[in-house]
Amino acid sequence: MGKPVFSIIAPVYNEEDCLHVLYERIREVMDTTSEAWELVLVDDGSKDRSNEIIRELADKDERVRPVIFARNFGHQIAVTAGLDFSRGDAVVIIDADLQDPPEVILEMIAKWREGYQVVYAVRSEREGESWFKLATASLFYRTIYKITDVKIPLDSGDFRLLDRKVVDVMNSMRERHRFLRGMSSWVGFRQIGLPYKRAARYAGVTKYPLSKMLKLALNAITSFSYFPLQLATYVGFISAGISIVAIPVVIVLRLTGSNAFFGQASTLIAVLFLGGVQLISLGILGEYLGRVYDEVKGRPLYIVSQGPDDIQRKK
Ligand code: UDP
Ligand code: MG
Repeated sequence: MGKPVFSIIAPVYNEEDCLHVLYERIREVMDTTSEAWELVLVDDGSKDRSNEIIRELADKDERVRPVIFARNFGHQIAVTAGLDFSRGDAVVIIDADLQDPPEVILEMIAKWREGYQVVYAVRSEREGESWFKLATASLFYRTIYKITDVKIPLDSGDFRLLDRKVVDVMNSMRERHRFLRGMSSWVGFRQIGLPYKRAARYAGVTKYPLSKMLKLALNAITSFSYFPLQLATYVGFISAGISIVAIPVVIVLRLTGSNAFFGQASTLIAVLFLGGVQLISLGILGEYLGRVYDEVKGRPLYIVSQGPDDIQRKK
């Protein structure tokens, strides 16, 4: 098989009930383009039958390229592996749970043909998600938008089309704590948003519990902003300012015989407050330092136990 024009990447973590339908729908959509395409399915250490199903699909259709991870590395890393393995001139990242309708890919391709190099899908509506997920997601996008240095479009997930040029640049960015939407905004190029209606999950449950969402949010913030580090400086200046104002106030009170600000309680509160602020600042510093340590170790981003060449070699 020659080099495909389009690559579709789907990260897969315990999606056994979605995979067949995902493949069918992508095949239907992509066959209408009458160009060569490939579907890169990255198995992110699934514990259900996803692995077998991916192999079956790859066996049946050589356009399906299987990448099997040695363990669970997380969604962003699975997509990164997909980008590494993709060969198309345009690459589309899509969720395996069919929340991103494959039909939107055709609209993305139309924009790409107009000359756009990044076409990101913007969720204008979301179906079948809890109010908690909607509220936290909304807060997430808005916080990131406010405090990061890169203007990451609001309400756009990883569902997007990237031109080969963009993919090559992103593949050269080997940072460990990845926030792909931020990275694909950061690179520049000609970008455009495409509104779409995000569907409900086809089957199964979300693989993004609150803990993983928090981790993603932390990665997004620390990868694209020093704001938390600067926060310590601001709080420091504010406390110093307060104490400078407080000194003459206390002297005057003392001279006028008032006994405000006397006693242990006020001392204790001040000490506890500052102790808390200092520990939080230390924690923020530690967060960045830990990330620096992770980068310095230079470990591979992911471990592939079997790639397309291992599985499809016989062909
Ligand atoms: N996913 C993954 N590894 C993980 C968690 C999720 O590859 O550790 C995949 C998952 O299979 C899906 C996509 O990432 O294709 C998005 O996950 P999910 O649909 O659970 O997130 P949500 O849409 O609820 O935010
Ligand atoms: Mg989903």
